[in-house]
Parts: sequence; structure tokens; C-alpha cells
Amino acid sequence: MDINTFIKELESLNIYPTQKQLDQLETYYKLIIDWNKKINLTRITEKGDVYLKHFYDSLTLIKAYGLNKKIKVCDAGTGAGFPGIVLKIVFDNIDITLVDALNKRVMFLNEVIKELELKNITTVHSRIEDFAKENREKFDLVTSRAVSRLNLLDELCIPLVKENGYFIPMKANLEGEIEEAESGIKKLGAQKEEIISFLLPKEGSVRNLIKIRKLNKTSIKYPRVFDKIKKNPL
Ligand code: SAM
Repeated sequence: MDINTFIKELESLNIYPTQKQLDQLETYYKLIIDWNKKINLTRITEKGDVYLKHFYDSLTLIKAYGLNKKIKVCDAGTGAGFPGIVLKIVFDNIDITLVDALNKRVMFLNEVIKELELKNITTVHSRIEDFAKENREKFDLVTSRAVSRLNLLDELCIPLVKENGYFIPMKANLEGEIEEAESGIKKLGAQKEEIISFLLPKEGSVRNLIKIRKLNKTSIKYPRVFDKIKKNPL
């Protein structure tokens, strides 16, 4: 996907990036390529692919949630910053926390934040399950792209969401995951509201946004999965 096509596809998401934001994305792309030589950030490196499969894909979260608001967002298992860094560049009104268990990736994110002079963005080197114990009900929106199966991810992320807030995982493949997760979602005080499915432009692979609304505070003190994961990390 070349830049002009990227801009055109964003129009259909009602996103109109400024020149400054496009420049920031370009600098981010260059930093990814540069750091990818030293640490493992992504297998996708061809420029058009990064713009489509990482940048555009990250921004499709707008299909499920209005991001033009001053809200507190958490990206759990952000890796090289997807979707978190891309969201912060384009929706600079959000206050975002990026969590990842791999310190080298967190160091990369800190460099990106410094280079792009991003504000109201925090990185946390932690496992989500540990971070969640100290940050329950803190976020309006929690998202997570390509981290683990839904039934595990729900238990890690729903405790982080404020009442009436949303957890919206971004997943390519669902294969039975919804059925597997349904009862856990209820136990955590939440409800699956909608699944928004669509195809990525150009290459046509399936994407899903699972819109999960937090109805009540999570009453389970520490969801059972936390200790299980400690023994067998994801
Ligand atoms: N979200 C990014 C993306 O879409 O490209 C990264 C996806 S990568 C497949 C999964 C990331 O989740 C890795 O960076 C890994 O370190 C992180 N991760 C996996 N389990 C985690 C956990 N329990 N706590 C924090 N980070 C975790």
C-alpha cells in the first residue's frame, strides 16, 4: 500500500491525518526498520506492508470506538507499538499506556516516544497480569492486538477497564474463541456487545474487533488465570 492509497483508505475510516502525523508515521517506520536489525520487532518490513498490516490495521479500532475524545487507553501486549503508538500519533487527544513483558521492545517504544515527541503516553515493562493487579478499573478503553486466545486475554484485560468502559481485542482469527470465552466474560462483569468483522483492503484477510462492555466492577479478586499464567507464561 503506497502512501496515497494509505491516505485514501483512511478517508473511509473518517481519518484525515495531518502532514505532521504522516511525518511521524514515516519516522516511526524508519525506527522500526533500524531497530529491527538489532531486536526482533516484526517480520513485516516492506514499507507498503507495514503501512497496511500495521499502521492501517491499528487504526481500524476506530470502527468500534470513537477515539476523538480525551480518554484513558491501555494497549496490552503492544510489542513494537501496535496499535498503541499508531493510535497516539493519529488521535493525540488520548492518554495511552503501553504494556509489554519484553524490556527490549519497551526500550524501543521509549525511543519512538522521544523521537516523535509524543506526550501523555506511558510505557510499562510488565506482564499484563501483574500490571492489572495494581491498575484495576483505571481505563476507559483497553485494547490488545494479536496477543493470546480470547479466554485468557479477557481475564487479563477486563479487570483493567472502568465500569461502562470497553475491552476491544483486535484479532485476525477467532475460530471457536468466542464460545470458549463467553462464560468468563460474564464472570468478569462484562458483556460481549458486538463483533465487527471486515477485510483488510488490498490483501483481503479477515479482521475482527470484539467489543466487550464492562458492566460492573470485576468482583473476582484475582482472576484464576493470573496464577496459571505465572506458571506457564504465554
Ligand atoms: N500487539 C503487537 C502487534 O499487534 O504487533 C504485538 C503482538 S506480539 C505477537 C505479542 C506481544 O505481547 C509481545 O510483544 C509479547 O512480549 C507481549 N506479551 C505476551 N504475553 C504478555 C503478557 N502476559 N504480558 C505482557 N505482554 C505480553
